Amino acid sequence: MKIENYVRDIQGFPKEGILFKDITPLLNDPDARKKCLSILVESLKGQKIDKVVGAESRGFFFGMLLAQELNAGFVPVRKPKKLPYDTISASYELEYGTDTLEMHKDAIQKGDRVLIHDDVLATGGTAKAVCDLVTELGGEIVQCNFLMELSFLNGREKLKDNPIFAAITY
Ligand code: AMP
Repeated sequence: MKIENYVRDIQGFPKEGILFKDITPLLNDPDARKKCLSILVESLKGQKIDKVVGAESRGFFFGMLLAQELNAGFVPVRKPKKLPYDTISASYELEYGTDTLEMHKDAIQKGDRVLIHDDVLATGGTAKAVCDLVTELGGEIVQCNFLMELSFLNGREKLKDNPIFAAITY
């Protein structure tokens, strides 16, 4: 089974010029989901993970599955004003303007070994902001992993020293 076959291309969503990678067929198939999860877990080669940090919102799906499989905590990173407790925040640049992400200030303890997860690595702005949040709280980033990497957008360059893994590369 090829997990690529469970990602649907949607041309022009959410706006013209974007080829959206729709993971809902993957979420909807238990065998494809299991295969994808095992690919992500195997890439860690048994390294211990204390916390999985998932980026809103499609990073929550496999982020939570990874946390369960790795017996780790799960930490949601969210858009501003969504988290109820005290937060820290990090901003990143978009094509036009900036965006901000937040995390609870007590979500990670100094020295925690952290896995960062999102569905797609595109320009890397989102993942870089998540890395900044984890680092601010003293977490050690073990890996940033993604279901897909759009390699032509060079997102890896923003994540520099952090190990990166993607189950599918385009
Ligand atoms: P970036 O910050 O540019 O790396 O964008 C990554 C974020 O945007 C991820 O949270 C993705 O969910 C979303 N994203 C970016 N490009 C796409 C795409 N072509 N298809 C689906 N989601 C995307």
